[in-house]
Amino acid sequence: GYLGFFLLIAALTAYMWRDTFDPESVRGARVLITGASSGIGEQMAYHYAKFGAQIVITARRVDALKKVVQKCVKLGAQKAMYVTGDMSDPADPERVFKYAVEKLGGLDFLVLNHVGNTNVELWKGDADHVRSLMQVNFVSYVQMAAAALPVLETSGGSIIVVSSVAGKLASPFVAPYTSTKFAMNGFFGALQNELAIRKSNVSVSILILGLIDTESAMNKIRGFTTMTAYPASEAALSIIKAGATRQKEAYYPWFHYFTCLINNIFPFMKDILLSSLSAENMD
Ligand code: NDP
Repeated sequence: GYLGFFLLIAALTAYMWRDTFDPESVRGARVLITGASSGIGEQMAYHYAKFGAQIVITARRVDALKKVVQKCVKLGAQKAMYVTGDMSDPADPERVFKYAVEKLGGLDFLVLNHVGNTNVELWKGDADHVRSLMQVNFVSYVQMAAAALPVLETSGGSIIVVSSVAGKLASPFVAPYTSTKFAMNGFFGALQNELAIRKSNVSVSILILGLIDTESAMNKIRGFTTMTAYPASEAALSIIKAGATRQKEAYYPWFHYFTCLINNIFPFMKDILLSSLSAENMD
């Protein structure tokens, strides 16, 4: 009985997660990717380029952006351009967005991916850092979404937001970061529901990522965890696929669906885990 039930659930899950991605659906698509000067955003730019998309990338570092654009052109992007912007400046999200729409003549995918710098450490009472990280990691996402919705309505386009397991599980040592990701999941989750109520043709995809082997992440977690980090290029591709197939929520690696599920069903497991940690070693 139980085994049958389990197999049924497993079969349903596998069916729901089957790969229905058609690369043709992103050929020629007009895409704006934030935080694309390095890491997962950079890898997304390369995948979109190979699929023949028209791309605008943004971040702060102009030299890095230029290099990514050059590589995108080589890989086959129909168009590849960059615009610098600092998402801690409240004026920049809209300015960057307008630039992209002007250059691309509209937009099909808005990929929100950038994150501000933050330390991996116990929270020692810095409220100002939380406020400024909220602007970079969260408020700027909302500002871009606000600018994008009317444009995406005309193209039947999509917003893709890159979130984290830290947006589902309150993660120690990254309290400011985990807060911004919870805010993101809350806001864009509510937006998904409102778009459904309005029968909008705009989709929102929320990506829940586990540990990914980007340089910045690897530098930060050194000494904190021996958890396996998954490849940025694969993470990038799974984000693009989830967006193109208009999935509401997707997990990479896939098993983090169960990490989040199990945490919600058995909250006391977390207490057992935490009791094995000592804050004294973490300073
Ligand atoms: P990186 O640090 O490699 O890249 C961050 C990007 O954001 C860079 O392009 C950076 O460019 C840009 N950025 C930083 N600050 C600003 C700013 N103030 N204004 C504009 N752009 C800015 O991050 P990852 O690739 O590792 O992460 C990408 C996404 O994936 C993030 O949303 C992250 O939360 C999520 N994620 C990552 C995980 C991981 O383990 N790597 C795990 C779970 C989620 P520049 O410095 O040029 O401005």
